[in-house]
Order: sequence, then C-alpha cells, then structure tokens
Amino acid sequence: MRNVLMVVSGPSGVGKGTLVKTLLKRRADVVESVSCTTRAPREGEVNGREYFFLSKEEFSRRIAEGDFLEYDEHFGNYYGTPKSFVKETLKTKSVIMEIDVVGGFLAKKAFPECILIFVAPPSVEELKRRLLGRKTETEEEVLGRLSRLEYEMKESEKYDYVLINDDFEKALEEFSDLIDREKEK
Ligand code: 5GP
Repeated sequence: MRNVLMVVSGPSGVGKGTLVKTLLKRRADVVESVSCTTRAPREGEVNGREYFFLSKEEFSRRIAEGDFLEYDEHFGNYYGTPKSFVKETLKTKSVIMEIDVVGGFLAKKAFPECILIFVAPPSVEELKRRLLGRKTETEEEVLGRLSRLEYEMKESEKYDYVLINDDFEKALEEFSDLIDREKEK
C-alpha cells in the first residue's frame, strides 16, 4: 500500500477542521502537514507543531529555493506548505494539507498525484444564513465570505472528491474509506 498526499478544502464554517482532527485521532497512518508562516506564534503555539515560524528573510529564501509546494499571503503574512516536510513524511505516512482551493490547485500542479478533497455543507443556503446571522462580523466581512463561498463551491467541481458534511460520522467514514481505496491504487 502506498502513502497518499491529500488536500482538504472547504468553506469556512463547514467543519473541515473537526473532520480532519477526528480522522487523525482514529488513523495512525495519516498526519497533517505543518506549514511555514511569517506570523508570530500565538500563546501556546509550538514551533514545528502548529507551524514552523520563519522570519520574512528565511521565508523569501525558501521561496527562491523552490521549497514551497504552494504559498500565499494572508493578512500581511506569508503561509506555505514546505515540500521538504511533505516529501519526508510521505516516506512513512499519508499526509493531509488543509488549504484553500487556490492552494489546492497549486499543490496539484506541483504534485499531480495529490488528491483533492472538498468538504461541502449539506445546504449552501443554510451556511449562508449562518454567516449572515453572525453578529461578530461587519456587513463587508460577511459579503466577502459569501462571495468566497460561491467561488469555492464552483471550484469544488474540479476536485476529486466532495464530502458532504451532513451526518458527521458518515462523512468521517466516507473520508476514511476513500483514503483506504486511494492507498490501494
Ligand atoms: P492563522 O494565522 O489563523 O493560523 O491562518 C491564517 C490563514 O492562513 C488561514 O486561512 C489558513 O487556512 C491559511 N494557511 C495556513 N497555512 C497555510 C498554507 O500552508 N498555505 C496557504 N496557502 N494558506 C495557509
């Protein structure tokens, strides 16, 4: 059986983080990749566990050396998936990268064998209602999230698998089964 590289994407609020974390607790043969970032560690974060925390200079150097499978800027900081970490880990385990659809397509370009998995809400309308109902964000932020949601749902058509997170245990089982099938290919 081979080890597989997977990207998990999905709109914010869809529960993909919980799905991945639970899967990792149940499967010792799968790990999550650790990204690099230029942002400062938050309280409780450990270098090499949540992220590899790099200076801007170090990050730029690694871009130049081609060490990122994909990278992007969020809120003024860089984030990227290190090729070296992924390649090394794949020797012993399957690897999950939790990244957005743009990063997902970049990863597929760099690693064509990488499997793209999209976690979709049972109903887009319900997710929209939930986003609109949140009182913690400005209208502008909500509109930004809604247009992002539409874009991601459209792009999910190009993904290899779409898991509908309706019944959590069922979604988890489908996720685990597809890993088994892919490992056997
Ligand atoms: P945070 O600073 O809250 O941990 O993450 C901020 C954003 O960076 C999130 O949207 C997260 O998905 C994104 N992010 C984290 N790691 C990576 C990565 O390796 N590549 C890309 N493209 N985005 C990432």
